[in-house]
Amino acid sequence: MVKVVKFGGSSLASAEQFKKVGNIIRSDDSRKYVIPSAPGKRFDEDTKVTDMLYKCYAEAEAGKSFDRHLKAIEERYNEIIKGLGLKLSLKEQFETIKKNFQAKAGSDYAASRGEYLNGIIMAKYLDYEFIDAATVICFDKNGEFNGEKTNEVMAHRLEGTKNAVVPGFYGALPNGQIKTFSRGGSDVTGSIVARALKADVYENWTDVSGFLAADPRIVDNPKPITIITYKELRELSYMGASVLHESAIFPVRKEGIPINIKNTNAPDDKGTMIVETTCNKPDCIITGIAGKKGFVSISIDKDMMNSEIGFGRKVLQVFEDNGISFEHMPSGIDTMTVFVHQDEFVENEQKVLAQLHRAVHPDTIELEADLALIAVVGRGMKNNSGIAGNIFSALAKQKINIKMIDQGSSELNIIIGVRNRYFEDAIKTIYNVFVPENNAVKK
Ligand code: ASP
Repeated sequence: MVKVVKFGGSSLASAEQFKKVGNIIRSDDSRKYVIPSAPGKRFDEDTKVTDMLYKCYAEAEAGKSFDRHLKAIEERYNEIIKGLGLKLSLKEQFETIKKNFQAKAGSDYAASRGEYLNGIIMAKYLDYEFIDAATVICFDKNGEFNGEKTNEVMAHRLEGTKNAVVPGFYGALPNGQIKTFSRGGSDVTGSIVARALKADVYENWTDVSGFLAADPRIVDNPKPITIITYKELRELSYMGASVLHESAIFPVRKEGIPINIKNTNAPDDKGTMIVETTCNKPDCIITGIAGKKGFVSISIDKDMMNSEIGFGRKVLQVFEDNGISFEHMPSGIDTMTVFVHQDEFVENEQKVLAQLHRAVHPDTIELEADLALIAVVGRGMKNNSGIAGNIFSALAKQKINIKMIDQGSSELNIIIGVRNRYFEDAIKTIYNVFVPENNAVKK
């Protein structure tokens, strides 16, 4: 059995946290490959080392003195090293970093040092081999991640290793220049390593016991999600549920490897298992609810629209030409509505309207701003009747007007559009339909 274990920044923010991580790894022999993030926040007002590095590098790039900033970062690491009682000095590494900052090595290089240095400490602490991610995570010359090449290089490099630490978040271009993934990207590194090893499971250790069925800032004590499919997760993450980096699913999915989200501070909690597919049905039909505010609907009316071939294409072309992606597009016989992100739309509003007029000569165009979309997601909804009906009658009872509904043909989700101001109430109401024992509603 081989487990790849990734630990997030809060799990490695201090020597105390490192010790918890050490115990977790040592308690299970199969935890052979470790992906550390950079040290995160130790307390609410604290600063993540990654952010300290970005700031420090910005000073360097502006030609200002950055010694003080770099010292503060070095201190964060020294505190961890001391707390763990390790015989290790990062003096040389910091000298190199200083030189490279002066030589303007780039902000990706700067940010990557957070994981790099933490990886060195972790390898020493566990007595595991250290593998610099720059040698095994490959980006192409345009800075695009090269998954297939990485898989080959990584699998080859790990062959014959007993255990290893591979720092998360970064890799390198063919010319050796360091490149990072987007923020939170250590999750992606963990997934890549798990794929290359054909690991049995990818454990992603963080500071929560997995995904919750709804946002705890809106619903009191929402149920934890024990099993979720990749597809369901994609729907929920897209709509705002954030625990795992969006791209972390893809590498492991290629090998059918499950991801287990676990809590470093409560290691006995089961956490959430993310799987390709499962017979295990959620006990309350839906798996989760998530949503986002800030959409605009653009409703285009035209008599006999229905018989005008190419109408939809012309409308969407206008949005494409303006670099605006659309979210949903419910339509009627003589009407078509396009939902877009308000912040992408407002700056080009009049231009888009004029172009729509020219493209399709509508009778009227109506706009409605400040809308929210809520996704009710669950593989359990398939072949279950009355779900939409229950949602709508519950919302009607609360006098929440539904602006739009859209059910994907996979019956995996129902999207509901409401005004921004009803967003929280709508989520609470829907949650209570499916999880009736939850009566406590935050005011
Ligand atoms: N340290 C990086 C960040 O703060 C990457 C990560 O933690 O996954 O975004």
